Amino acid sequence: KATLAQRLLTAVGQHAAPPVLRAVDGVDLTVAQGEVLGLVGESGCGKSTLARIATGILKPSAGEVVYRQRPVSGLKGKERLDYLLKVQMIFQDPYASLDPRMRVSRIVGEALSVHKLVPKAEIGPAVDQALSEVGLDLAYRDRFPHQFSGGQRQRIGIARALAVKPDFLVCDEPVSALDVSIQAQVINLFMDVRARYGLTYLFVSHDLSLVRHISDRVAIMYLGRIVEIGSASAIFAEPAHPYSAALIKAIPSAARRKSAFQPLKGELPSPLHPPSGCPFHPRCEHAMPVCREQRPALVEIAPGRSAACHLHNASEAA
Ligand code: SF4
Ligand code: MG
Repeated sequence: KATLAQRLLTAVGQHAAPPVLRAVDGVDLTVAQGEVLGLVGESGCGKSTLARIATGILKPSAGEVVYRQRPVSGLKGKERLDYLLKVQMIFQDPYASLDPRMRVSRIVGEALSVHKLVPKAEIGPAVDQALSEVGLDLAYRDRFPHQFSGGQRQRIGIARALAVKPDFLVCDEPVSALDVSIQAQVINLFMDVRARYGLTYLFVSHDLSLVRHISDRVAIMYLGRIVEIGSASAIFAEPAHPYSAALIKAIPSAARRKSAFQPLKGELPSPLHPPSGCPFHPRCEHAMPVCREQRPALVEIAPGRSAACHLHNASEAA
């Protein structure tokens, strides 16, 4: 049974002296094998930082990533490489993540040849297999990234990830740069390969209707912290945290596409100067005096369901 558990306390500082920005603070997140965990929040809330830490692209300045029961910071040599290969990142902008001077075949086969994962003669066939898995014509293998549409580029990014036989994909807004008409196709591809290979996903997005559609569990993030986590069905049916409720209310439905669209009240505060107490209090319509004073802890409010809000912690609010 594999789990990826993260206990992260991250400080990203530009200078030796303050101000220090805690992009992700005290986040404790576990992803079970085979599940899709949707990570949601406004841009700037720390989702991308968390995703990069999970894949090893970014080192946490404190805290630990645990992969299959083992702290990643202690992995060396072959074991570290194995983690870096098994946990693959899919980026928001496939174009920026594809080397423009490389042909598709080299992009997709690069990790296989650099790390000598398969004999040289098998790289070509492995690349072809990865390309067919993502629905790309093999005639494209000698083309360059600029010769493809956005959707095709994201397919190349997915083929590159699949080529090394990962078991965990961390996807950071993987369709938000694509035309709406293409998004569904790429999402379907993600779900197809998930079923085919039993993949696990951490799926980062600001798009709640998308997350609702594909996730088993959802974690809602605000200013670098998880404010609610639970099954997707439970959270969407009855959000426990006022921030989750506001996000869900703001989803434009087909029925009220333009007229009644309700954007969230107020702006996301600067993470450099987070509000006192509950960081959501300046925007919360349920804020109480205690909310300005005390930061609510993330506590279990039902089996498998946690929220960080004084409304759900009677003893704290009293
Ligand atoms: Fe709103 Fe208070 Fe709950 Fe924060 S703790 S979300 S301010 S009710
Ligand atoms: Mg981001």
